[in-house]
Amino acid sequence: MARWIIVSNRLPFSLDARTNKLKQSSGGLVTAINGIKTKNPIHWVGSIAANIKKDQIEQYQKSSPYSFSYPKISESLYDSYYNNFCNDVLWPMLHYEKEIIQYQSEYFDDYKKVNRLFADHIAKIAKKGDIIWVNDFHLFLLPKYLKEKRKDLKVGFFLHVPFPSSEVYRELPCRSEILESLLYADLIGFHDFAYLRHFSSSVYNILGYDASLLDIITPHKKVRLGVFPVSIDTQDFIKKSKTKSTLNKIKDFNFPKEMKTILGVDRLDYTKGIPLKLQAFKKFLEDNPKYQGKVQLIQIAVPSRTEVPEYIKLRHEVERLVSEINGKYSKINYTPVKYIFNSVSVAELMALYKSSDLLFVASKRDGMNLVCLEYIVTQDEKNPGVVLLSEFAGAAQTLSHALFINPMDIVGTSHKIKVGLEMNVHERLERHNVMKDYLKHYTASIWAESFINQLTSREKSDINKKINLSIETEQAKLKKKVKNKTLLFLDFDGTLAPIQNNPSAVKLDAKTKKLLQKMTQNPKCEIVLVTGRDRKFISQAMQGIPCYLACEHGASFFDYQKKKWRNLTASKRKPWVKDALEIMGLYQKRVPQSFVEKKQYALCWHYRRSPESFAKLQARHLYSDLIDGMKNYPVTVSSGKKIVEVKSLEANKGYFCEWFLERYAKDHVETFAIGDDKTDEDMFKVLNKRAHTIKVGSNTDSYADYYLEDQADVFGLLNKLFS
Ligand code: UDP
Repeated sequence: MARWIIVSNRLPFSLDARTNKLKQSSGGLVTAINGIKTKNPIHWVGSIAANIKKDQIEQYQKSSPYSFSYPKISESLYDSYYNNFCNDVLWPMLHYEKEIIQYQSEYFDDYKKVNRLFADHIAKIAKKGDIIWVNDFHLFLLPKYLKEKRKDLKVGFFLHVPFPSSEVYRELPCRSEILESLLYADLIGFHDFAYLRHFSSSVYNILGYDASLLDIITPHKKVRLGVFPVSIDTQDFIKKSKTKSTLNKIKDFNFPKEMKTILGVDRLDYTKGIPLKLQAFKKFLEDNPKYQGKVQLIQIAVPSRTEVPEYIKLRHEVERLVSEINGKYSKINYTPVKYIFNSVSVAELMALYKSSDLLFVASKRDGMNLVCLEYIVTQDEKNPGVVLLSEFAGAAQTLSHALFINPMDIVGTSHKIKVGLEMNVHERLERHNVMKDYLKHYTASIWAESFINQLTSREKSDINKKINLSIETEQAKLKKKVKNKTLLFLDFDGTLAPIQNNPSAVKLDAKTKKLLQKMTQNPKCEIVLVTGRDRKFISQAMQGIPCYLACEHGASFFDYQKKKWRNLTASKRKPWVKDALEIMGLYQKRVPQSFVEKKQYALCWHYRRSPESFAKLQARHLYSDLIDGMKNYPVTVSSGKKIVEVKSLEANKGYFCEWFLERYAKDHVETFAIGDDKTDEDMFKVLNKRAHTIKVGSNTDSYADYYLEDQADVFGLLNKLFS
């Protein structure tokens, strides 16, 4: 059975200084993953603190459902990666706190180093068929580094924090490298649809890739996107809320009957909005004197990054506000804010959930917030509390029946506290039941399963059981089939040469050129280059490689043996050209740096160098204008990778292959066709069952039988098969 390899920054335990034993860490990610119930064995990879010893892990492992392993990272490197880059750059950026970002390029270098150490470790321990699930922003670069070493592995990435608007993200100096590396994952998951939307538009605006809300097409593959709001182990929390020790704690608290309790449980982090919460509570007491002495706020503030100046400042601010409120409203037997700067035991936490009337979540930004889910499932079924929830927490998406606040609006929030405390039991029950019902069915296990299912289902639905030729064993199998005389139909852009912004600058790299020359020296190997390019360009690009050239999708053909060019399309008169040029000319003027390329049988409007979003929209308009304007001409209109093209109906790579096979290829035993674009599909369709058809890019539906993940893999394959 395939293992799930869960990867996160830290393994889910730390050393308890009092007992010198390992104890489970707190935090949303650990809670969520611990809630997963699956038959598949789980192996967890994460770093460990320097004070943890190997035998302690072995001991801990005995009573854990997981096995563990860790990359070796020096303390100083980890410190720079974690504190300087993850926490001082990525965390504030992802949570819209731009002002406190402290970026230095050396920090990013250390981040890269640690991501590489993770990749090296996983590449070593992962077995064939293992599924890799990378968690969170500490490991943004891991998908690329890992795929470079182990192409065979399925890699999913889940982001546990928000992804900010592209207007915020674009300020990050290393924005492109992070996105590019992350896009090596097969699936990227988010808690909230808005995070996905922001991510997709960042990719589109920054990298210029075709990015929708479902997937992103990169030059080498398709990456799926999905929304999977995390959940908790509902039954486990229900159980924990009913244990003897929980019930004893409730008794110990001994809150006066007439006292209303508001509860806050947050890490002491600036994203959690604790000062805003205190200000709203203060406003509430100010505006509602009848509640003075009758409502207490218990705020658990779990210490987080206590040495960091930003957090020390926050702690002082919180403590100042707490003492201001307490100074003003305390009585001998009443303290309005009970502030605990510590974590609490499970039994205490459950007892607090059960004894409070209102849970107060005021996060300025929060990936999900599990505390509110836990609160709901542990409530008394007959007399549940109310959830006052920031609309900026990811949980707001699924907990539709919470009472929502904008935590920046102190007056509005103070008013909602009153509404929450005064809500009648009928309404409380109505809201509670909807949310509890949802959490009964939608658990952490379902969350994990949906993510893994989508990650692994790709093979079936997306590429129709095509064979991945980027895997060496598959290449070896195919090599065995290659017999005697072989004919290869090869596309140029995106196949032999990578796609570039400036089409006229594209050329073969030296090693590909050398390989093609070597192949053509073999009398048993014949190459036919089938391209959309014109004669002039392709003759130059393929200079020194004796092979057939089919340009403009087969409209014109060069027989290298006879050294003669031929026009293969029937109509030489092109009355459509004038009209098409007129339409395209308008767009050429309108869209900066776009241009019209005139080919012998086609006109092509390029917008590779133009401002992305604007040009893409204009391309859609041009496409529909051309469909309309060209409807009476024998032409096809198509849009491809940053182009819109009109071409004579006769020019088609499929028709060309047919024509060529009839005349030139009678004694070839094996035929190959390799291409990456829509126009290559015509070729794959015609060659069905007659050739080994190979699509470059594992993305879209294709008529091809095989695929290569990346343009760079074309060289590897040809080299393996023919050198
Ligand atoms: N938690 C804990 N001990 C405490 C307080 C909280 O273990 O003293 C747990 C809580 O039960 C929840 C997690 O910490 O599962 C907090 O997750 P959340 O998503 O709310 O916030 P995060 O800290 O991950 O930002």
